[in-house]
Amino acid sequence: MSRFYWPEALNIGPLTILTGTERGKYPHGNSVLVEGTRETILIDPSLTIAERGCPIAVDKIMLSHVHEDHIPGLSRLPDTPVYCHTLDAQGLQSLDGLMEIYGMPADIEAGFRLEVVKEFCYAPRPDVQTFIGGDKFDLGDVTIEVLHTPGHTRGHSVFLVPEAKSVYLGDIELTGFGPYYGDAWSSLIDFEKSLQLCRQIDAENFITFHHKWVINGRAEFIDQLNSFEKVIINREEKMLDFLKKPRTLEDCVSHRFVYRPHVELAFADSVERRCAEQHLNRMIQDGRVRPIENKRFVSV
Ligand SMILES: [Zn+2]
Repeated sequence: MSRFYWPEALNIGPLTILTGTERGKYPHGNSVLVEGTRETILIDPSLTIAERGCPIAVDKIMLSHVHEDHIPGLSRLPDTPVYCHTLDAQGLQSLDGLMEIYGMPADIEAGFRLEVVKEFCYAPRPDVQTFIGGDKFDLGDVTIEVLHTPGHTRGHSVFLVPEAKSVYLGDIELTGFGPYYGDAWSSLIDFEKSLQLCRQIDAENFITFHHKWVINGRAEFIDQLNSFEKVIINREEKMLDFLKKPRTLEDCVSHRFVYRPHVELAFADSVERRCAEQHLNRMIQDGRVRPIENKRFVSV
């Protein structure tokens, strides 16, 4: 039983899931409190935290990565020390640094800058401190271990709490949409390696930032991880099929392999382009696709 009220809060030993609006559906998310005998740490302060405030005092904040929806609650805790992976720190140091992580075309970036400040309460935190994979935070009778899982961003990390047999997965979110590796600082290859690493994690409770929420049991987690990973293979198979006729990169962008055709998002084309490039490069390297004249590609 918690010492405070929070709608749909869930306790797992020293962890409390501060469930976000609509179970953390974007733009919201599920933040996590970890309470030790000496320190309390808040992980990924969501937009819901920005709206409601943090229900108890916290000593530190840890971020799985620096994306707009994982940091709005910092606005409620401007003086609390904040930590993220060294490779994502520039996203907190300045708004320019954050924009470089996304790498959007200039015309779309202008609007997104305003949105990040107005809707996601962005304020730079030049005082950000950093961690790397393997670092441990000792809260007193409970520890948070950092596992570096790049791919979604360069610094994306998941947090293992061995005493609670729990791991917080951040944006390895296990949704039907599949892995997101559409930013300048994303990597398909790294994401796949990180998914392999996640398979090895010794835990029973798997917590995601978005609406999958909490998955209990390793078997169920592995099932969901398999489905999540399969989305990458499906995208690639569809692309191979599309490339039976010679196509350009821009043909792939218009066809859409990540978003459905009806989805209207300002940044959809740039995400499709970044993802298609990565799949094409990989398939050229392993001989499944070859470049031909006029900047076209064809499956072999
Ligand atoms: Zn993210």
